[in-house]
Amino acid sequence: MSQLPESATAAQTWDPKTLIVAGGRPEHTNDGPVNHPITFTSTYHSHGLAGAEDRVYARFSNPSWDPFEEVLGQLERAQYPALVFSSGMAAISAALTLVPEGGVLVLPQHSYNGSLGLSAELQAAGRFSVRAVDVANTDEVLRAMDGADVLWLESPTNPMLEVADLPVLLAAAKTSGVLSIVDNTFATPLLQQPLTLGADLVVHSVTKYLSGHSDLILGAVVTSDKQLHSRLHGHRTLHGAIASPMDVFLALRGVRTLSVRLERSQENSQILAERLAAHAKVSTVRYPGLPTDVGHRRATEQMSGYGSVISFTVGSSATDADRMIEELRLITGATSLGGVETLAERRARHANEPTTVPENLIRLSVGIEAVEDLWLDLSRALERI
Ligand code: PLP
Repeated sequence: MSQLPESATAAQTWDPKTLIVAGGRPEHTNDGPVNHPITFTSTYHSHGLAGAEDRVYARFSNPSWDPFEEVLGQLERAQYPALVFSSGMAAISAALTLVPEGGVLVLPQHSYNGSLGLSAELQAAGRFSVRAVDVANTDEVLRAMDGADVLWLESPTNPMLEVADLPVLLAAAKTSGVLSIVDNTFATPLLQQPLTLGADLVVHSVTKYLSGHSDLILGAVVTSDKQLHSRLHGHRTLHGAIASPMDVFLALRGVRTLSVRLERSQENSQILAERLAAHAKVSTVRYPGLPTDVGHRRATEQMSGYGSVISFTVGSSATDADRMIEELRLITGATSLGGVETLAERRARHANEPTTVPENLIRLSVGIEAVEDLWLDLSRALERI
């Protein structure tokens, strides 16, 4: 499917909260199902009369991908459906092939550690060179873009929650002919839509908020550029990092509730961030929703919500942070984010995390539980360090 179907184009005018519920549905017919079935197949009947739209083989396309790709494309206000990949990293890996041989990639120093790791590996192999920047420092990023080929943005960043000036940086990239790619995993298209600000490509770890239940790994890329869409489709087909039909079905089922999940988790995040900031055992809190946060003004201007990840430092050492996580009873100590359940992780436990991430920093992915239960758990654990 290379063009949005007509009905989908009409859906572009729907409020995103409606789109996630009503998009990607089968035609309304008597006795027809309200959900698309899952298609488990490796190949398709082919009678030698192949037309351009033939599916041919299930590595090329699968009807189970279409509704989710349609909805995500529409949510990001793209001209084309999204392309799902087997993981966020598979999508990132495909996107990094857009950096030309011997080219220059501008990359936030606190990007997701997988993006940092893969870029470092490709740099070491001589594929391209990386200019690491403080993405919240607009002048620094603009300077680094001089003579660069690709600008990679992540905002807010994982796990430091720095907020990039997306309108200024994406406009500058467009003017100077630098290809721009935004990892929109933390914000989701309900909070910001980078393509509408001029980004060439958006990547997602669908594993997180979009699917929302910590039960699958999935990625996606989204673009309004026909050539990029076709190139990344070709990459997916030949490199083979394709999604399971079951996982995409679950992701679509998950995305249906994205707005209510985000509403609740952001409400919880605001309350918890304020209480953490006032707690004696907590030294710093990063959450763009806090009026005192350095990213607050920018986030207020360019996002329609502050997201549901809080980063904070506790006590004075890694041991203090580990101890706190061990003391949690309701909140799960685990990596990942964006699910309905609250997760806490000391990020620096990963050897590949940038050394500028404090060793006692805990990333809290706030879920949709009752906020007083979450606070009881957090404050109890804080008292024990
Ligand atoms: N982008 C961000 C911002 C992430 O946080 C992650 C995973 O944590 C990824 C990309 C990679 O996604 P996946 O784990 O689905 O491969």
